[in-house]
Amino acid sequence: MSDEVILCYSEETELAADLVRIARQAAPTAGARVHAALLPGAPPGGAEQLGRAGAHAVHTVAGAAHPDPHVVAEQLRAVVASLNPTLIFLASTKRGREVAGRLAGSLDLPAATGVTGVRIETDGVRVDREALSGNAVATERIVRRPAIVAILPGTSAPNPVPAGAVEARSLAAPEVAPLTERTEVRPKPGGQLEIEKAERIVTIGRGLKKKEDLGLIEALARSLGAEVGCTRPLAAEAGWLTDDHWIGLTGHRVHPKLYVAVGVSGAVQHLVGMRSAQLVVAINTDANAPIFAQADYRIVGDLYAVVPALTKALGAG
Ligand SMILES: Cc1cc2nc3c(=O)[nH]c(=O)nc-3n(C[C@H](O)[C@H](O)[C@H](O)COP(=O)(O)OP(=O)(O)OC[C@H]3O[C@@H](n4cnc5c(N)ncnc54)[C@H](O)[C@@H]3O)c2cc1C
Repeated sequence: MSDEVILCYSEETELAADLVRIARQAAPTAGARVHAALLPGAPPGGAEQLGRAGAHAVHTVAGAAHPDPHVVAEQLRAVVASLNPTLIFLASTKRGREVAGRLAGSLDLPAATGVTGVRIETDGVRVDREALSGNAVATERIVRRPAIVAILPGTSAPNPVPAGAVEARSLAAPEVAPLTERTEVRPKPGGQLEIEKAERIVTIGRGLKKKEDLGLIEALARSLGAEVGCTRPLAAEAGWLTDDHWIGLTGHRVHPKLYVAVGVSGAVQHLVGMRSAQLVVAINTDANAPIFAQADYRIVGDLYAVVPALTKALGAG
């Protein structure tokens, strides 16, 4: 469709740049236009980054940032009103899903969240979404446009398609009374790990016998320049690591370049969180552990022997 106009927004400019790349691929025709929105509070340099990703135009909304999702949705609604896009791409983060729901409600738009693939076809927009706890992929057809598509971070974004000169548009933020006020921000115990952003992760599961043995895993992680992740039982039940290390359906979804799964069985709820990892190494005593089906390198062995040997081989043992 030649008159496709896709508006991309995420509170994280890097994710917005991924959305722009996905939009350029989904709507490759000459008349299609990919726009991006930068809302108040966006760090400087965003317009250039979005332009490099292939945006034809960047709309910068000037005004005060506010953490209330209602305010964010209304600011984005002002861009939507000035542009009339045929599709709105958001990142399916917590904030993105909140904004998707509010925009869909206030503008009566169809919305799909948790999307892992999007195709624009003559009879509608087809989206792939995780189904059955991430064990299956369902394809759904969005029957009318405009529509909102919230795409999961880590969904592969193609290489940038240069758009040429990027048009800069600016508009003032609408006057919006917040519906919630943030009264306090407390750091969570255990630090400020943002495991979703880690490029390398060593994840430990219930194969570890006691908390004191975590040092083995931390040493391997250090030797790889990696963060330590864990399965749900280690965070939620044993409390050996804080929730910010927890990967999976109810934890964090990660997309590192390297994922080393140590003593992890590979339950589907865990796999949902690490499926986008580029290279997976698994260490497990059970040759039939489901994690091996996801692994590029399979080491059948006792982690208490394999992990120190690996750390030593990496020159840090
Ligand atoms: C609604 C719901 C949501 C959930 N969400 C999540 C989630 O977000 N994330 C998550 O991780 N789980 C989640 N779970 C739990 C999930 O179903 C599994 O129970 C959990 O992932 C198992 O963790 P594990 O692999 O550490 O433990 P186990 O399944 O007990 O596996 C331990 C593995 O270690 C191996 N092992 C044992 N000893 C050694 C050794 N010495 N050396 C090497 N390997 C060894 C064993 O062979 C086994 O494969 C969820 C469950 C439900 C019902």
